[in-house]
Amino acid sequence: MQIVTADRALVGADLEVVEHAAVVIDGDQIAWVGREADLAADLVERADTVRTLGDATLLPGLIDAHVHLAFDGGPTPVARMMAEGDSAQVALMLRSARELLSVGVTTARDLGSRDYLGVDVREAIASGTARGPRILTSGPAITVTGGHCWFMNGEVDSPDAMRTMVRRHHKAGVDCIKVMSTGGNMTPGSMPWHAQFTEDELHVAVDEAHRLGKKVAAHAHGVEGIRRALAAGVDSLEHCSFQTEEGFGGFDPELADAIAASDTWVSPTCSARMSDFRRLLPEREFPLGELYARGVKLMASTDAGIDNNPHYGYVYGLLSMHEFDIPIRDVLRAATSGAARGLGLQGVTGELTAGTSADVIAVAGDPLTDLTALHELRMVVARGEHFAPDPVPAIEPLDPDDLPELLRRMIEASRVAREQALVTAEGLG
Ligand SMILES: [Zn+2]
Repeated sequence: MQIVTADRALVGADLEVVEHAAVVIDGDQIAWVGREADLAADLVERADTVRTLGDATLLPGLIDAHVHLAFDGGPTPVARMMAEGDSAQVALMLRSARELLSVGVTTARDLGSRDYLGVDVREAIASGTARGPRILTSGPAITVTGGHCWFMNGEVDSPDAMRTMVRRHHKAGVDCIKVMSTGGNMTPGSMPWHAQFTEDELHVAVDEAHRLGKKVAAHAHGVEGIRRALAAGVDSLEHCSFQTEEGFGGFDPELADAIAASDTWVSPTCSARMSDFRRLLPEREFPLGELYARGVKLMASTDAGIDNNPHYGYVYGLLSMHEFDIPIRDVLRAATSGAARGLGLQGVTGELTAGTSADVIAVAGDPLTDLTALHELRMVVARGEHFAPDPVPAIEPLDPDDLPELLRRMIEASRVAREQALVTAEGLG
C-alpha cells in the first residue's frame, strides 16, 4: 500500500478541490482519497511508502477517446501503415502507447488499426509486457469498399455484411466498434463531407454492437453523415465537424441541439494542431465552442497519430479546447470523468474515488488556474504501477507547406472566399 500527498487533489467525478490531500493506493486500486488530516492511522501504519509532492495537484489519469496507435503522427502515416508488415506495426503501436503514457494519458481508445493488432497490443500492455495506457480498441474501422481507411481491412457494402463484420470484430476481441459514417481527410478519393453508409446500415451496426455489449463510435465529418449516425443511435460522434466541401457553412444548430438532447457523446478530436488550423484556415468553421455552448456531452480526444499529430501532443489538444472558451474545469472533466462515462468506464477510471483503478497523475502547481500545468508531470501511476515518463519534444507550429494537399486546397479556397467577400463588400460600399 502506498500513500501520496500533495497540496491539492481534484476528487470525484466533478473534480472537487481538496486542499492538503492524500490518495491511498492499494495494488491497482484507489483505496482512499481525502484530506491528509483525515487519513486513518491504520492506513498510515499499513503503508509501505509515503510520497510527499508539496506544491502539486493530484488528478485522475487522462483519457484520449480517439487515437490511432498504428499511425506515427508524422507527415505520411497512411503510407507507412500501408508499407509496413504486422511486426513493424505492433512495434510502432507500442511506441505510441508509451508516448501517451509519458504525457499522463492512462486510458486511450484506439479507433482504427489494421486487422486485430490493437487487440494484441492491448493484451501486451494489460499483462505488463509493455507499458502504456489501458487500451480500448475497435480493430479495423468499418468502412465501404475503397472508403475512408479501407486499408485497415474492414470493408462492407450491405446491411448483412455490416452485421457479419461486427460479429467478426466481436469474435476477435475488440472493445468497441468504429464505423466510418462519412469519408475522411486522409484517404485519397474519400470526401469528408459525403456520407458513406445508409442509415439502415448504421442501424445494423448499432443494434448488433449493442446486442454484444459494445459501444459504437461513428467517424462523422459531413452533416448528412452526422445526422444518419445520430439517428442510428451511435454512442459517440467522432470529429462532428460539420465539414463541407468549402470548409464552412455546414453548422446546423438544430442538429447540434438534437445531439445535445440525445445520449450520444461527441469526441471532437481537438488536437495539438487545432491552433494551427484556426490560424491557417480562418474561414473554416470549427464548431466545438458552439457544441459546448449547446450542452453537447464532450469527451477529450485528439486523433493522435494522424498527419503531424504525434501521440505526445495530447495536452496541447486540451489547451486548444480551452481556446474555444470551454472553462478549464469542463476541459478537465472531458479529459477524465466525462470521457470515462462516454466510453463506458464510469466507476472504472477517470476519477479519484475509492474503488476505482489507481490511474493517478500529479502535475506541478494548479491546473485549474493554469492548464499548462499539465505539461509539468510530477507523477504517473497507471493501474497502480508507477511510470517514469520518457522525455518528449515540444509541439512546434506547422509550416503550411507541410500540410496535406486537401488542407492546402482548403486554405486556398478559404483565401479566395475571403477575397470575394472583400470585393462584394467594396461593391456594396
Ligand atoms: Zn481517427
